[in-house]
Amino acid sequence: MSIKKYQICTNCIMDTSDPRITFDDNGVCDHCRNYYKNILPSWLPNERGFQILKKTINKIKAEGARRDHDCLVGISGGVDSSYLAYLAKEEFGLRPLIFHVDTGWNSQLAVNNIEMLTEKLGLDLHTEVVDWEEMRDLQLAFFKAQVPHLDTPQDHAIFAALYNFAAQHGFKYILTGANYSTECIYNPLEWHYHAGDLIHLRDIHKRFGQRPLSTFPMADILTYKVYYRYMKGIRVVKPLDYVRYIKENAMRLLIDRFGWQKYPQKHYESRFTKFYEGYWLPKKFGYDKRRVQFSNLILTNQMAREDALDRVSHPAYDGRTISEDFEYIAIKLGLSASELRDIMNGPNKSYRDYRSRWAVFALGTIILRIIGIERKAIR
Ligand SMILES: [Zn+2]
Repeated sequence: MSIKKYQICTNCIMDTSDPRITFDDNGVCDHCRNYYKNILPSWLPNERGFQILKKTINKIKAEGARRDHDCLVGISGGVDSSYLAYLAKEEFGLRPLIFHVDTGWNSQLAVNNIEMLTEKLGLDLHTEVVDWEEMRDLQLAFFKAQVPHLDTPQDHAIFAALYNFAAQHGFKYILTGANYSTECIYNPLEWHYHAGDLIHLRDIHKRFGQRPLSTFPMADILTYKVYYRYMKGIRVVKPLDYVRYIKENAMRLLIDRFGWQKYPQKHYESRFTKFYEGYWLPKKFGYDKRRVQFSNLILTNQMAREDALDRVSHPAYDGRTISEDFEYIAIKLGLSASELRDIMNGPNKSYRDYRSRWAVFALGTIILRIIGIERKAIR
C-alpha cells in the first residue's frame, strides 16, 4: 500500500482519511467541487422548489384520496425525519402513516421522541420490529468480517422494511428525510459500502452468520430502484430538498412544539450508531464520520470551518463512559468484552474482500450521472 501524504481540503474538513479523495490546485477536494458543480445548481430550497413540491403534494393527495393514508413517512427519531413528519401533516396537509423500524438498537430517547411526536401530531405510527436473534446474528457477522461498514445490517433492515411494506400495502409515495442540506456529501465508499447490496450482505452472513435469516427484512437495491419504482410505481419523495431546511431551526421547532429532546450528534438516536461512529470506526479504521457531517454543514453555511476543526480535534466518544458502552455492545452481541476487543484488534478488511455488486453500481451510476438523475458524487 502506498503511503499518501496527509492533506485536508482548504474549503471543508474532508482529508486523506478518505483514500480516494483528490484535490485541485487550490487544495479544494472533489466532494466540494461536486457540490458546487452538480448539486448546488439544481438544488431549489426556495419558492421555485416549493412550487414543484406543491404539485407532487397535490398528486399524492389526489391519488391517495380513498385510502386511510396517502403516503408513508419513514422515521428514525432523528431531526431530519422527525421534522419531515411535522411538515407532512402540518404544512403539507398530508395524511401519512408514520413508519418506524425497531432494529433493537434504538435509544430510549429516540423511542420517546417518535411516540411523543406522532401522538401530538395525531398521526398513526406503524413500528416494524426486527427479530432480534436474526439482527444480532447478522450484526455479529459484520463485526467478524472486519469491515468498516458495520451499520449495513441496521440500514438494510430500515430501507428494506420500508420499501417492502409500501409494495405490500399499495403505497405509491414514500417520503424520506434524506436531504442535501445535511447530506450533500456521500460517505466515502471505503467507509460506508452500499447497504442495499444484498449479494454482499448475504455473502458476509454466509461466511460468519450462524442462523438463517428467515424474517429479516431484505430488498436488494435493484429491487427497489428498478422493480418497485417502475413495475409497482412507488416513488420516493425528498421534501426537505424543496424547502429551506436549517437543522438548528428545525430542532428548535421540534423542541418548542413537541417537547422533543435533542441528541448530542447526528445519528445518535441509535445506541449502536453512537458507539460505532463515535468509537469503533475512528479507533479501528481512522474514519471519523463527523468529517462528512460537518463538511456538509460547512458547504451549506450552517457551520464555520474553524468550529468543525475544533470539534474533530476532540474524540467523539466520552472517555468516562466508553468502557460501559463497550461492555453494553458486547453483551448485546452475545460476546464478552474481551472477545469484542479481540475483534477490534483483528486485521481490517474492506467491502472488496467479499462478493458485491460494486461493478454493476459503478456502471449504473455513470449512466445515471450522464442522464442527469444522480448528482451526488459516487466513486
Ligand atoms: Zn472539500
